[in-house]
Amino acid sequence: MSKDKRKIRADFRKNRNVRQRGGDLTRRFDRGNTDELDDAVRSERISGKGELTRRRIVVGAEIESNAAGFSVSPAVDLSACRRGRVLSVHGLLSVVETETRTYFRCATRRLLRTLSTEQRHVVAAGDVVWFRAADLKAIGAVTLGGELPEGMIERIEPRRSVLSRTVRNRQHVIVTNVDQLVIVASAAEPRIKPGLIDRYLVSAEKGRLRPIVCINKVDLVDRADLMPLVGVFSRMGYTVVLASATAGFGIEPLRKVLHGHASVVVGQSGVGKSSLLNAIEPGLGLRVREVSEETQKGKHTTTAAQLLPLASGQGYVVDTPGIRQFQLWDVIPAEVVGYFRDIRPLINHCQFTNCTHRHEADCAVKDAVADGWLDARRYESYCQLFEGDME
Ligand code: GDP
Ligand code: ZN
Repeated sequence: MSKDKRKIRADFRKNRNVRQRGGDLTRRFDRGNTDELDDAVRSERISGKGELTRRRIVVGAEIESNAAGFSVSPAVDLSACRRGRVLSVHGLLSVVETETRTYFRCATRRLLRTLSTEQRHVVAAGDVVWFRAADLKAIGAVTLGGELPEGMIERIEPRRSVLSRTVRNRQHVIVTNVDQLVIVASAAEPRIKPGLIDRYLVSAEKGRLRPIVCINKVDLVDRADLMPLVGVFSRMGYTVVLASATAGFGIEPLRKVLHGHASVVVGQSGVGKSSLLNAIEPGLGLRVREVSEETQKGKHTTTAAQLLPLASGQGYVVDTPGIRQFQLWDVIPAEVVGYFRDIRPLINHCQFTNCTHRHEADCAVKDAVADGWLDARRYESYCQLFEGDME
């Protein structure tokens, strides 16, 4: 990653990593479509002389990359903008929530769309944006159901994290800036499937989300029976919450877990996700369910993720109906072991550097299972995921 002053003559912030992705940008500018770039010229600080040149088009833009990808932001006068979070995206319009919990329906500035490598989905649910309100007085109490004041998104902050799926080799962003994956399982009805929890843990590790394991319906079992499993997850450093939505058990710890974060809630149907969310906050589970149903009807099929603000004003529950499809975000077999916190430290001790830890001789992972250091069930999960059983 390095600054590239040839194409991007911008006032980069010096302490940021800057990278230019030559291909797309260059191609786009090579088209010489000055029409699309009009507003760049109109409102950006332009240096240099002479007629419009390719170079000057992106003066004032900032290119930034981090683990979550890369972003291009035109420098804008932020004092004229308000900061907010995109709750949902409907075609070219986004619903944006401000820090004071007012809502705007925002279009996206053309320059941003032009600079994006993926024009269709420049803005995603979860993005932190700066927007210009059409009517600055329109800051009264507006509910999400009513007509929202309008705004124009001028800038998208670099994303801390991205959940995406790959469609024909292109990254399809579903939701950004999520912190946590709350993995809900049930102790019974349906019976607990530890392998499924392992899969979600791999997804969380891959997506750099903090996983929380929540085992619901503990009213139906003897809690002592769950302890061996809870121990395995806890020893790896994962937070485990035992809960019962119907008995009102474990609800306060869950509320604390959600507070101040954006959390994606996943888990098999019937484990009690809606019930838990309703226990945490009346109506929350219902809202999640409505969103899912609406999406299943195919209303907004492409960018269906929505952030549901918690009543406390601190945190969101993210509903991502397509979660099963990106359960494992393109994890290839060789990568799987890297997402198993308990197995990963062992692999340097295998005889072969390309050991897959299944049938090789002198495998430190298999030895650890034999000696009882590594949970045999976790090892089986690893083998299944390695073999591509990722459904
Ligand atoms: P979801 O599909 O994951 O959202 O699950 P639901 O919240 O719809 O719950 C499925 C069923 O499990 C419902 O009949 C709930 O009443 C029941 N249920 C949810 N939580 C509990 C619990 O803690 N204990 C028991 N016994 N039943 C529960
Ligand atoms: Zn091995």
